[in-house]
Amino acid sequence: MSENKDNKMEKIISLCKRRGFIYQGSEIYGGLAGTWDYGPLGVALKKNIENIWWRMFVDSREDMYGIDAAILMNPNVWRSSGHVDSFSDPLVEDKKTKKRYRADHLLEEAGINPAGMSIEEMSAEIVRAGVKSPDGNELGGVQNFKMMFETKIGAYDDAEAAGENVSYLRPETAGGIFVNFKNVVDSFHPKLPFGIAQIGKAFRNEIAPRDFIFRVRELEQMEVEYFVRPENWEEHFEKWRKDMWNYVEAIGLPRDLVHELEVPEEDRAHYSKRTIDFEFDYPFGRKELYGLAYRGDYDLTKHKEGSGSKIDYVDSDSGEKILPHVIEPSLGVGRTILAVLTSAYTEDELDGEPRSFLKLAPSVAPIKVAVFPLLKNKPELLKKAREIYEMIRKEIPQIMFDTNGNIGKRYRRQDEIGTPVCVTVDFETIEFDGADQDAEVTVRDRDTGKQERVKVGEILSHLKNQLK
Ligand code: ATP
Repeated sequence: MSENKDNKMEKIISLCKRRGFIYQGSEIYGGLAGTWDYGPLGVALKKNIENIWWRMFVDSREDMYGIDAAILMNPNVWRSSGHVDSFSDPLVEDKKTKKRYRADHLLEEAGINPAGMSIEEMSAEIVRAGVKSPDGNELGGVQNFKMMFETKIGAYDDAEAAGENVSYLRPETAGGIFVNFKNVVDSFHPKLPFGIAQIGKAFRNEIAPRDFIFRVRELEQMEVEYFVRPENWEEHFEKWRKDMWNYVEAIGLPRDLVHELEVPEEDRAHYSKRTIDFEFDYPFGRKELYGLAYRGDYDLTKHKEGSGSKIDYVDSDSGEKILPHVIEPSLGVGRTILAVLTSAYTEDELDGEPRSFLKLAPSVAPIKVAVFPLLKNKPELLKKAREIYEMIRKEIPQIMFDTNGNIGKRYRRQDEIGTPVCVTVDFETIEFDGADQDAEVTVRDRDTGKQERVKVGEILSHLKNQLK
């Protein structure tokens, strides 16, 4: 990673902490690797990103059903899905420092493609190519490291009894969707094709969490399982591919930073006939943002066998019984937030002074509008500014009232958190001797710093237009 790129990540991480977007998890205790806490602005940004997804893929469609399943599930769910046996990453240890790494990542960094390699082949390749740890030391053999977090269910004193009661924190939200397939069918009798959507937490005991919120141990996913007739999978795969681009656009990610990677057969799960990874140009390299996979009938078949339940779909017109096939668009919330933040972070010069700001799309900005009185110690200015703030807030709830520091500082602070528009109430506003609606305020645009006078009576329509 070049110094420049490191530097950009450091600046973003520091901005996130300083301005209340994202804090290190359990920070006052020295932190906990792979966990991060969202502060007031981070949670607002996250909710905007999730709400746009939910509106686009659930609320505005007739063929989608939202659910919110439990994180703890019967462990047989993960036995059937194959996770208990094979949800693992290749681990390799630095012989000297005992630090642990992803073997496939070290191989990639050494210019070797680990696609399709077994752990034995990775071990051999490390020796053959002389791959060393990032500290320059010899590496040990590669082993499979299981990534599901285990936990124990119920109150057991006896260790053996407790051992039989192991369960897992779900490693993906998809499991909760598949086990509710029959429930949704029975409650709503949807016609194929239809989808079930869920946003929620998932947990992976990543060997080496890194790159801020890119690779974490407690993550959030926005997933859809879209059930189709087997013969139609290609058509629906293409539709979802387009829909994912529509989402990228709706949250304001620059299209030229997002790239499709057609995953080659040797890298795909054996049941997937097609997978596209959506990759993003992060400051630390081009990495996976989202996945879109055709999973055939693998999951429903496995859960049908494993549970012994009759989960087939019966067509209400023809009486035909089938196990639908599945298209799965899987989106990480944290990776979306990081893509949004890193692409929005901008440095420029305004009024002869350097500034850094977040050029966020209004749709995701945690605060859409900030309202200030020009001076804070003038009661009439304060009163008028509050009145205007309350009036705007009824229609645009993500709004902030700020009286701290001089007006220039307030603008810079709002720029730094990505607020698209600021409204300032000054003496002309309160001294105007015509109708209240005709008094004017100053409206300032974040990106250009340009200011214009707008009548109080027109402010709402003006703002709505600017925030489109
Ligand atoms: P990677 O290869 O980067 O580990 P993956 O292929 O295992 O990711 P999937 O199992 O396809 O990821 O998970 C779907 C989505 O969940 C990913 O596209 C990503 O957005 C998100 N995701 C997966 N693992 C993590 C993680 N450890 N931290 C943050 N987000 C993650």
